[in-house]
Amino acid sequence: MRPEILFPIFKPLTTLTGVGPSIAKKLEAVAGPHLVDLCWLLPFGLVDRNFSPKVADAPAGSIVTLVVKVDAHQPPPKKRLPYKIIVSDETGHLTLTFFHGRPDYLNKTLPIGETRVISGRIEDYEGTPQMSHPDRIGTLAEIDEIRSVEPVYPLTAGLGPRPMAKAVRAALATMPELSEWLDPAYLKQNEWPGFHAALMEAHRPQSDQDLAPSLPARRRLAYDELLANQLAISLVRMHTGRRAGYAFEAKDRIGQKIISALPYSLTESQKTVLQEIKSDMQKEPAMTRLLQGDVGSGKTIVALLAMADAVECGKQAAFLAPTDVLARQHADALAPLAKASGIRLALLTGRDKGKAREALLNALKEGEIDILVGTHAIFQKGVDFRELGFAVIDEQHRFGVHQRIELTEKASGPDRRAADVLLMTATPIPRTLALTAYGDMDVSRLLEKPPGRRPIATRAMPLQRLEEVIAGVSRAIQSGNRIYWVCPLVAESETLDVAAAEDRFDYLNNKLPGQVALMHGQMKNPEKDAAFAAFSSGQVKILVATTVIEVGVDVPEATVIVIEHAERFGLAQLHQLRGRVGRSDAESSCILLYANPLGETAAARIKILRETEDGFRIAEEDLKLRGAGELLGTRQSGLPDFRLANLAAHADLLQAAHDDARLILNRDPDLASDRGEALRTLLYLFERDHAVRYLRSG
Ligand code: ADP
Ligand code: MG
Repeated sequence: MRPEILFPIFKPLTTLTGVGPSIAKKLEAVAGPHLVDLCWLLPFGLVDRNFSPKVADAPAGSIVTLVVKVDAHQPPPKKRLPYKIIVSDETGHLTLTFFHGRPDYLNKTLPIGETRVISGRIEDYEGTPQMSHPDRIGTLAEIDEIRSVEPVYPLTAGLGPRPMAKAVRAALATMPELSEWLDPAYLKQNEWPGFHAALMEAHRPQSDQDLAPSLPARRRLAYDELLANQLAISLVRMHTGRRAGYAFEAKDRIGQKIISALPYSLTESQKTVLQEIKSDMQKEPAMTRLLQGDVGSGKTIVALLAMADAVECGKQAAFLAPTDVLARQHADALAPLAKASGIRLALLTGRDKGKAREALLNALKEGEIDILVGTHAIFQKGVDFRELGFAVIDEQHRFGVHQRIELTEKASGPDRRAADVLLMTATPIPRTLALTAYGDMDVSRLLEKPPGRRPIATRAMPLQRLEEVIAGVSRAIQSGNRIYWVCPLVAESETLDVAAAEDRFDYLNNKLPGQVALMHGQMKNPEKDAAFAAFSSGQVKILVATTVIEVGVDVPEATVIVIEHAERFGLAQLHQLRGRVGRSDAESSCILLYANPLGETAAARIKILRETEDGFRIAEEDLKLRGAGELLGTRQSGLPDFRLANLAAHADLLQAAHDDARLILNRDPDLASDRGEALRTLLYLFERDHAVRYLRSG
């Protein structure tokens, strides 16, 4: 349970005075639902209002705070013109302009004959100085408050800088003083302020230097967040690591049958990672291993062969995919191999209902199913295995961090033995960053692709050449090729994306009747299946799709992928999409259609894609292009979302927090000491509640 001292900052935003449901909604979109989320919203800029010259000396373009007398009001002669107010000091006049200015409001705030303090940007309007819509207007008594440095926060439509800053200030006022959780010696060595002081300081920048991630206050806060992350991961690991698993002593009987049914032989890389996995499986402690392998490197068969060992030892296995389409594809692809080797394999997704579902669940409970393939529906209530010994989580980055932990926990057999867990991902994550998601989990890497794969010819073309591309596509299908046509994300609206995809479908289907299928996220599952089945069986030759095809789809006969508005996709995403082709020894190509003018970053992305197919190199370049702010997109990578830590700037702190967390838990595994108590509060502060469950209550 969350400690009482944190209650005030976990209140909803509407508890702030002046924040109603509609403002709260906007604040929530930027920060999050609780007051504490506003505290984590650090300023990214500042407005210095200290410069306070005379009117005649105020340079155009600069932000100034002026003390002026109000001389005259000039309401607009015509509706669309601004309301003007003339003000002055002893050196000169200045015109204030207000578009759609309300006379009653302006007469109240700037009454004729009174002295007022105004602050804003000076402009030059045909030789006369002007200020349109001053940022601040106040009386002389308010000058000190106005003539200061204002922090600038991220904004959202319909929420101005003033209400934003005000809300953050009010939220900060609710942050209690908390007992120090850092080691005093470490604190001193770094010359860091305490948590509360650091937070206040980070919100009160006085100069640009104070906005840098190297500011001691910011480093302290980053460390706090990273420490919470590392402690939570270590706790989960300590707990799950302590759990006994199964020691699988398989003789590779089923595995050999599978291998002899394969139309190819395993690559050296596949053999190596399989050995790594098997050697973990033979040991009693529960395995948690991450298998990283670029798109098309052949992870699925590795997973099947690992599961086969568990099955041979009389246990069941679960194979989890992030989407229905993918689960179905896996089930279809594995079915013949399962049949050849005597494995009983079944598919369970969210849409199995009624009698059929009941029969399946019953068979699962009775142990009549060896491998269950499915979506997360596998771990729903009422789905009981007889004895689950092994779980594969494919495209694990598509599952949230919490979800993943939950899945790992649910993967346990009846006598509380934990199932071995194999996580799979195509996203190459640099080692340091992997720490934030997994602690020091064991990682296996598939370094080579199956032999015979040819480079994917990657071309970029402006959208104006669409007709040419369509002509090329129509030639390609005549010679038996199959083609993905990807329509991009338009704005944030899924509905708009779908409309774009539908339009493109109509257009292509008109030119090539009966050859095109459409698949997108708003279609019902059976429709999606039908579209995908038509494409993978070759009944239609073109699949127009939104990015639903991004993950894991495997149709080896597809050899061309056209990506519309390629400039709107991230590099990692383009790499994933392109990886849908080049899955056989036939020649493949990828056409990136872009809208002119092409921005610098988009041009750089396309250039990199044309240069390389190496996922690791692409990931590295992606980091560089994205810059410090957003390193890997957290959704793409499955990494946790940090609010205060900037992984590019604070990588050194991550390693330190990792070591610190270990040391802490070695000495005080249940966080029972005084410092341990403070650290529990830290875990709650950063909403790592799930980890605290592993502690005996103090
Ligand atoms: P990913 O790692 O992206 O999940 P898949 O497991 O879907 O890749 O494999 C991609 C394709 O390569 C599949 O069609 C699979 O049958 C094939 N494949 C896997 N291993 C080999 C191999 N050793 N030789 C040839 N083809 C292979
Ligand atoms: Mg895959």
